[in-house]
Amino acid sequence: MSNKALHLTGVILPESEPRDFWVADGVVVEGPIAGAETISKRCWVLPGLVDAHCHIGLGVGGEIPKERILQQALTARNAGTLLVRDNGVPSDNWWIEDRPDLPRIIRSGRHIALTKRYLPGLADEVDPQDFVAEVELQCSRGQGWIKFVADWIDRSVGDLAPCWSADVVAAGIKRAHELGVRVTAHTFGEQAVAEIVDAGIDCVEHGVGLTDPVIEKMAANGVGLVPTLCNIENFPMYAAQGEEKFPTYAAHMRDLYERRLDTLGKAREAGVPIYCGTDAGTVVTYDQAPHEVVKLGAVGDADFALGAATWRARPWLNAPCLELGASADFVVYDNDPRADLRVVTHPSCIVLRGVIVAEGGTYC
Ligand SMILES: [Zn+2]
Repeated sequence: MSNKALHLTGVILPESEPRDFWVADGVVVEGPIAGAETISKRCWVLPGLVDAHCHIGLGVGGEIPKERILQQALTARNAGTLLVRDNGVPSDNWWIEDRPDLPRIIRSGRHIALTKRYLPGLADEVDPQDFVAEVELQCSRGQGWIKFVADWIDRSVGDLAPCWSADVVAAGIKRAHELGVRVTAHTFGEQAVAEIVDAGIDCVEHGVGLTDPVIEKMAANGVGLVPTLCNIENFPMYAAQGEEKFPTYAAHMRDLYERRLDTLGKAREAGVPIYCGTDAGTVVTYDQAPHEVVKLGAVGDADFALGAATWRARPWLNAPCLELGASADFVVYDNDPRADLRVVTHPSCIVLRGVIVAEGGTYC
């Protein structure tokens, strides 16, 4: 890796015309810079992709060693993901802060689940009376976000059901907001998402159970939605796994899956801000953000899908795009991703903090 000045001529999306673009000392500068290395004379550039639902530091059983966390971070980076909103991990990933070659992470502490109502070992499990205290703890561990699991299969009813009463959820969200922290939650079904949106939540993960009135309220309040289409594709598998013991749950999951694009389309049309997130961790691999962008192309146009991972997602997370003085975190493509979203899956060069970290499919 070298830290020399960089130059390219290309379309800096979402702009439409090609121009010269310069990087020096890790940031975007006006240029020209004598002696700068020219990356490309004809290219398209996106701000580093955002994966707004990604667990760097999570394995099937929960905690994982540093070497595996490093692999997850490198896999994400080499796909062009340069900013991650971590949706809760049991492992310590703070050491990534000392590695300028790895993606930036906005942490959410550990995700919060109700005792015995989630995958074992992944979240911090608490009883309802301890929910608010746990919210406070995770607010102190996160970086402006926390996450909880709002619904999961309830084996006593054989279907998805909220994990917490509406009162408990409302008290937790209120406390986080008092501490200046935004809250997001995992939700698949209809009831929990209605309750958390009523309680003033800031973002919804998955959200396949959104109904029209809830969509309206989310749009009115600017509540974000990170559908994680990469993970929703596993719903038929989750349904099959539960089929024998929980046929109602299985049928519910299949129905949510079959209606997913309809539901999301309604949310987009209503003006709900939708962002790219993969749910990488355990089932989904860490290289999927570009594929999530392609999938979002089924919900809206190319500008919508690309913006969901870049120029709309970054300001939402208080991160810059490619304005002058911003950290030079960007991905270069040989073709126009607006003409074909699949271009995003083939970056020609990835620059992080002004340094080329991957080029032509080979990684530095
Ligand atoms: Zn997740």
